[in-house]
Amino acid sequence: YAPLAEVDPEVQNIIDKETWRQYSGLELIASENLTSRATMEANGSILTNKYSEGLPNARYYGGNEWIDELEVLCQKRALQAFHLDPAKWGVNVQPYSGSTANFAALTALLQPQDRLMGLGLPDGGHLTHGYYTAKKKMTASSIYFQSLPYGLDPATQLIDYVALKSQAKLFKPQLLICGASAYPRDWDYAALRAIADEHGAFLMADIAHTSGLVAAGELADPFAYCDVVTTTTHKTLRGPRAGLIFFRKDSEKAKGLEKRVNDAVFPACQGGPHNNTIAGIATALLQASQPEWKAYAKQVIANARTLGEELVAQGYKLQTQGTDNHLVLWDLRPLGLTGSKLEKLCDLVGITINKNAVSGDASAQVPGGIRLGTSALTSRNMTEDDIRVVAGFLHRAVQIALVLQREAGSKLLKDFVRVAATVEEGKEGARLVRELRR
Ligand code: PLP
Repeated sequence: YAPLAEVDPEVQNIIDKETWRQYSGLELIASENLTSRATMEANGSILTNKYSEGLPNARYYGGNEWIDELEVLCQKRALQAFHLDPAKWGVNVQPYSGSTANFAALTALLQPQDRLMGLGLPDGGHLTHGYYTAKKKMTASSIYFQSLPYGLDPATQLIDYVALKSQAKLFKPQLLICGASAYPRDWDYAALRAIADEHGAFLMADIAHTSGLVAAGELADPFAYCDVVTTTTHKTLRGPRAGLIFFRKDSEKAKGLEKRVNDAVFPACQGGPHNNTIAGIATALLQASQPEWKAYAKQVIANARTLGEELVAQGYKLQTQGTDNHLVLWDLRPLGLTGSKLEKLCDLVGITINKNAVSGDASAQVPGGIRLGTSALTSRNMTEDDIRVVAGFLHRAVQIALVLQREAGSKLLKDFVRVAATVEEGKEGARLVRELRR
């Protein structure tokens, strides 16, 4: 029963340093959030000790009386959080993460080598939606299934539903996946349903990024049109790291889906559920069902909008020039700056962001953009005024990166940093770095 600090001071020390990094820095990674203390307590609980393969009241291990109660509670809260009628929708709360949730969903809906379509990774889609490159099929979703990406209209940078419809005519998918990791606008689920129906395909939404906003009713409702909805629990939903799979029960197409999804999670793709995580999800879902949650989701969106507006006001280019959700995609290409350079510079000054491909990027390895999200800062109660200050920091970071880039020629940012450290007192790069550090 000795505490961690006593048993393993090395790990405790790493946790302390990461705690300080999270709380002293500005976390702008769109896929992250700061979960509540209550959720972390549930997640770090004694429930981690228990094996419970199977489903409530149908386990392969004894001693699951309380685990059954927990999993049923978590399922009930998941349906409540998304305003779903238990007669029409069910949910599996066992997936270890968003990726395993998606692979289990594909396993449930498709046979090996069946055809699926998802938004291409360079256009904002996720790896698990069928991504492959000309050189390699590197994701299970492209290794075990045939996949074809759809994309954005280059003029509007919005999903090109017209092109998608024609592609689907040729490809005849059995599954159409919508949802993204980097798409700042909302989805037209009715249009996607119509395309899926033309081919008798399942429609699945992966709302990993936006589920907290969907639960709050601040974005279009995928449940009105989809057969299956998957999500992670740790992004805008602010829970522990895990996944959920919702499946429809009330249509002809949905016949048997419940068993197919449950069997796909276990035993097809996973073993014993992580009950501590399920407890954390249950707590996060309780919080996401409170009246305050709507205010949180509204603020996340208002903050993202403000961030976008401030950057546009500084003359920067954003994908679609704005946002409907929690993220903005910042196109750095007009500045001649890569996303990785700005990411590294921001790391030096406690602003955490990530490089990201922007529409039309030549290389996904050296992307020309940055993805910014406001969920974590909003969890710290930041509002539009704070976000304006953050936008000012980002503006200054870009100015510094540009100065350093100029001084270091075409070298990488680590060289810029070295150059910044060695430029004489009073030189512009060093002055700006000192200023930003303050
Ligand atoms: N789906 C989408 C849309 C995502 O953005 C992500 C992760 O960023 C995932 C799935 C995978 O989630 P995880 O990292 O929990 O496996």
